[in-house]
Amino acid sequence: MRRIKDDQHYGCIGVGAGPANLSLASLLYGDTAIPTLFLDQKQFFTWHDGQQLPDTTLQVSMFKDLVSLADPINQFSFLSYLHDQGKIYHFINAQFDAMPRREYRNYLNWVCERNENVVFGERVLSVDFDKTFVVETDRRTVTADNVSIGMGTSPWVPPVAMDLLGDDQFHVCDVVEKARSLGGKRVCVVGGGQSGAEAFLDLISRPPGERPRRVSWIARRRNYFPIDDTPFTNDFYMPGYSDHFALLDKAIRQKLNADHVLTSDGISGSTLREIYQRIYIHRFTEGNEDLFSLLPGREVTNVRRGTAGDWSVEIRDIDHPGVATNVEADVIIWATGFRPAPMTVLEPVADRLQREDGELRIDKSFAVQWDGPADRNIFVHNAAPQQRGLADRNLSLIAWRSQRIAERIRGVRKDDQLDSFIEWAAKPEVPETMREMHG
Ligand SMILES: Cc1cc2nc3c(=O)[nH]c(=O)nc-3n(C[C@H](O)[C@H](O)[C@H](O)COP(=O)(O)OP(=O)(O)OC[C@H]3O[C@@H](n4cnc5c(N)ncnc54)[C@H](O)[C@@H]3O)c2cc1C
Repeated sequence: MRRIKDDQHYGCIGVGAGPANLSLASLLYGDTAIPTLFLDQKQFFTWHDGQQLPDTTLQVSMFKDLVSLADPINQFSFLSYLHDQGKIYHFINAQFDAMPRREYRNYLNWVCERNENVVFGERVLSVDFDKTFVVETDRRTVTADNVSIGMGTSPWVPPVAMDLLGDDQFHVCDVVEKARSLGGKRVCVVGGGQSGAEAFLDLISRPPGERPRRVSWIARRRNYFPIDDTPFTNDFYMPGYSDHFALLDKAIRQKLNADHVLTSDGISGSTLREIYQRIYIHRFTEGNEDLFSLLPGREVTNVRRGTAGDWSVEIRDIDHPGVATNVEADVIIWATGFRPAPMTVLEPVADRLQREDGELRIDKSFAVQWDGPADRNIFVHNAAPQQRGLADRNLSLIAWRSQRIAERIRGVRKDDQLDSFIEWAAKPEVPETMREMHG
């Protein structure tokens, strides 16, 4: 395809139109001083559609939509969506404990449809800088004052599986499509987070003719641990904590992310309850003794083709490292997570950007620190958990983060919400002589 030059100069161009950049697109919408364009390589909007298993729900509060926590009267709020669709009373009366994931996806799609600055079917190839940003896509060349990178994540499997993926061994991101016909088979699910739990629950919940013969669930953690979604823990997912975290020493930040991983990556309590109740019924009331095997505290060390064309999954007990056993399976589902998508589009400016341990170093406005002009910025979403904590890679703070970015672009600064009840850091003593100066 021949690329054309777009004559419009933009205030901000977004690479990717997932929730992160859609939040920014919504907050900037209608601001005539800042024309925007948000591009996504997908032909049309989807949101983890390959993983939209029945009855799955969001793991964050329903208030944490694209805009509400930063701009509650914004036209792209979840409430506006419900109202526009005429189903606001029904949603309330349904008394969902958590937002159905499919409904959140449909809300995002509605946002895309109403924002003409969000364009699908256009892939960004590169971002360069020559007094202004020059963005090459597979269709055109566009220029902008700012670029917002929201490229999301890519599925990840351990090296033992990387060359083996196909129809009988796949990442959980394809579970809807590839796990359709598993009746009578032996399936091995690897991964003890929410995605692994959902895949396991889906398989053991199928009606008899469609149900696998056996489902093994392997997890490295020593048990199937829940997400901690309690009040004080959720204060980690407030703007003030993100700012506090950013000022800590690197070693402390790393330790906190490791210590607090279950505040973000654990399994929803409702999913765990459902799994437990389902396996109780299978074992004690229906006599399906052999349907499942639960193997936490195990690590997959190798995968080989078995003699019958099946898979032999070698696992190591993490508390008895010398002991290896095998799980035989016809199909393996890797629920082993996602990693930040490589930001290859930034290659033309790569040597101008600062880095910190594999992440682009960002300032308070999520702008990458670089040697270019201070009013020309590359913002990054969901790409700095080592600098901003675990909240940086989930939906909790997307509205606030986008607000920070929007304010930087506009050159304004509004007040944040009140601080947490918790005092995260000891406040330094201010000497009496200085008190007046500090107010
Ligand atoms: C199944 C699932 C459920 C989740 N549920 C929750 C939850 O309940 N709560 C929570 O807090 N978090 C959740 N997350 C984690 C996280 O919030 C989501 O992954 C979220 O979608 C991240 O948003 P994003 O915009 O950063 O990235 P994405 O949603 O991945 O969007 C990135 C977009 O960038 C596009 N793109 C990439 N490269 C280019 C390019 N070169 N040119 C143009 N477009 C490009 C991609 O096509 C994609 O559409 C979930 C993740 C998964 C996988």
